[in-house]
Amino acid sequence: MDFHKDYDVVVAGAGVAGVAAALAAARRGCSVALIEKQALIGGLATSGLVYVYLPLCDGNGTQVTFGIAEELLRCSLTYGPFDLSERWGGTAGAGFDRFMCHFAPAGLTIAMDGALNEAGVDLWLETLLCAVETSAEKVTAIEVENVSGRGRIGAKCFVDTTGDAGIVRRAGGEFVTSENYKTPWVMENSPDTRQYHLVDSVHIKVFGAWRDEFLAGYPLDGKSVTAFTRDTWQTLRDYYDRSYRDGFSDRHHLFPVHLPAMPQFRKIARIKGRVSLSDDQHGTYAADSIGLYADWRKSGHVWETPYGTLLPQKIRGVLVAGRSMSTEGDAWEVYRVIPAAVMSGEAAGVAAALAAEHKCEPGELNVADVQDALRPNGIKFHLAEVGL
Ligand SMILES: Cc1cc2nc3c(=O)[nH]c(=O)nc-3n(C[C@H](O)[C@H](O)[C@H](O)COP(=O)(O)OP(=O)(O)OC[C@H]3O[C@@H](n4cnc5c(N)ncnc54)[C@H](O)[C@@H]3O)c2cc1C
Repeated sequence: MDFHKDYDVVVAGAGVAGVAAALAAARRGCSVALIEKQALIGGLATSGLVYVYLPLCDGNGTQVTFGIAEELLRCSLTYGPFDLSERWGGTAGAGFDRFMCHFAPAGLTIAMDGALNEAGVDLWLETLLCAVETSAEKVTAIEVENVSGRGRIGAKCFVDTTGDAGIVRRAGGEFVTSENYKTPWVMENSPDTRQYHLVDSVHIKVFGAWRDEFLAGYPLDGKSVTAFTRDTWQTLRDYYDRSYRDGFSDRHHLFPVHLPAMPQFRKIARIKGRVSLSDDQHGTYAADSIGLYADWRKSGHVWETPYGTLLPQKIRGVLVAGRSMSTEGDAWEVYRVIPAAVMSGEAAGVAAALAAEHKCEPGELNVADVQDALRPNGIKFHLAEVGL
């Protein structure tokens, strides 16, 4: 090995879930490393050009998700032209909006970096997690590659926020993959001011989700990622060729300026957790809830999120947060988005810090202690706490 470092908590993957986990653990006084293979933080939300922070409310005017999920939503507005809707607060669609916003992806990146800096998180950019060391199915260290060579990073507890269960898969844990469909996003320049504006006339264009182009079960191999990504570029070439040929526009007035730097897979791999959250559990009491999250597509469906959804079935020493936590069926579709990733990331960060403090496994923690540590951050665990 070319280098070696040890921390209380290591978070792998600096998407929004990883940023939340690192902030939560560092704010409890832990030494925290946040490992990211790109030179950007925010994952799909920023380098993937996903610029819509989905709602923190139930669609009927009640806020259900709090803590760092709300902090990052407000953070996302700091360096951008967007605001929260003034019409939020009643039933969505009946004259009211939801508690959500659009944001400038680069603005969210630099705002989150400020928060990480203030919390004292040790951020490692351009550092690829490439192997996991285990002892009796407990994660003891990760191996990384960066410009310094190959290094070993140890921790008392790990958080896997790679978006594809990267630590758990490498440790031999069980996981489930998903189908995906093609949605090319492009930030383009156009004089057409009817689109969402980011800076002057630069806006992001989202092309339709062609559901007939499902990839059946993403096989998690490098060539299929390349093929999928190049296929979206072909779709964009077709779109611009058609626009120019048919006189809808020309290359001086409509052209791409930035493409997503992450493959546009919504769901790659999620763990098989000690508990799995399913669609029909909305509205159900979970004594071990670590936070509430509501369906972003329709009003009135709110889930209490069991702690066990963050714990892999057999791999120890690691929690999983973000779009790889253990949700199934339509609940995976609900939980794979930005606010839910942040909510689960915060809980995983707090639990990892407690496990490091108590020198125990995350699975051995008393969940009441995790809830007590989250409560001062404003987290609500049960529907009754928000009057539902
Ligand atoms: C086309 C599309 C549209 C979407 N639309 C919306 C929307 O409108 N609103 C919304 O809220 N959500 C939307 N989503 C979902 C949402 O953007 C993501 O699911 C969410 O941001 C996931 O956050 P995360 O932190 O769990 O994972 P990710 O964003 O995937 O972050 C994982 C991070 O880990 C890093 N990483 C991975 N492997 C390694 C490794 N081996 N070593 C080091 N680093 C690694 C990655 O580079 C990345 O930064 C959309 C997703 C897609 C694909």
